[in-house]
Amino acid sequence: MKRQGVLIVVSSPSGGGKTTICEQLLKQDRNLVRSISVTTREPRGCESQGRDYYYMDMLKFRQLKKQAAFLEWAQVHGHCYGTLRQAVAKEQQRGKDVLLVIDVQGGMAVKKKDPRAALIFVQPPTLKALQSRLQGRGTDGQDTIRKRLQNARWEMSCAQYYDYVVVNEYLPKAVEQVQAIITAERLRVMPTPKSRERWDKNRRDAINRVST
Ligand code: ADP
Ligand code: 5GP
Repeated sequence: MKRQGVLIVVSSPSGGGKTTICEQLLKQDRNLVRSISVTTREPRGCESQGRDYYYMDMLKFRQLKKQAAFLEWAQVHGHCYGTLRQAVAKEQQRGKDVLLVIDVQGGMAVKKKDPRAALIFVQPPTLKALQSRLQGRGTDGQDTIRKRLQNARWEMSCAQYYDYVVVNEYLPKAVEQVQAIITAERLRVMPTPKSRERWDKNRRDAINRVST
């Protein structure tokens, strides 16, 4: 039977470095693919349809929601974003490990639906560093940056609910750590959600039998 790919969620406040880290991972790790989200926001300068996002209006987004096409969706900074359920499942069935580069609301929604998903929070070293990275990126105006920084405080408080926290201070180290987590997740013994309870019980029994 073909190995089912794992789901890897990477979240951070805007400017935290998740896109930069994931781009490097996608270059170096041939078994990883990124899920392309749907969004109602306009494309930025160098972005393109189907490569960065599937851009669509609110009407079409609502239709997809109604059809239960999303594994998760959320409103972030005033726009809607969603992960396409079938596209993700198809990649997993092909044995590919799927990176979801999404916000914390989405991350937690994915965990609720699939407890086997690994949630990685990329944390900037300080809020000051986050601010200067947002400014340095040059994609957002002052108002947008202010909003994103306000949101960042709440997002950072959600790090405690993630499986892993990686501090993105020195980029190569952060990439190495996220790659290490992905490698470990691929090796994890993983009961299906259906067999989880029985598996937990069998493991407890086995531990009790062999331990003093
Ligand atoms: P996100 O996708 O989380 O919004 P980005 O990946 O776009 O964040 O990163 C925001 C900016 O910070 C980019 O200009 C990126 O080059 C820069 N950056 C990312 N990681 C680091 C780092 N470790 N040190 C310095 N700058 C970084
Ligand atoms: P941006 O507009 O800067 O590309 O993304 C804004 C935020 O939306 C980022 O935190 C990004 O990770 C998040 N995001 C992108 N796609 C999705 C998605 O499909 N679902 C959720 N919940 N968040 C997403």
